[in-house]
Amino acid sequence: MRKNSSIGCSVSECKFHSKDENFCTLDKIEVVKHSQKADTVEHTDCGSFKRD
Ligand code: SF4
Repeated sequence: MRKNSSIGCSVSECKFHSKDENFCTLDKIEVVKHSQKADTVEHTDCGSFKRD
């Protein structure tokens, strides 16, 4: 799959991961937060993830 060089990602379990390299193949992703207020990196995530 063609990678998007602007979106690095190491989640190889995702359907949109480029597999050969650590990049996403989508043109755009949605980054989301899990709590009302994000204070740490653990509170944010990729909302475009789909299990492969
Ligand atoms: S959709 Fe999100 S989790 Fe999936 S490959 Fe792209 S950046 Fe990674």
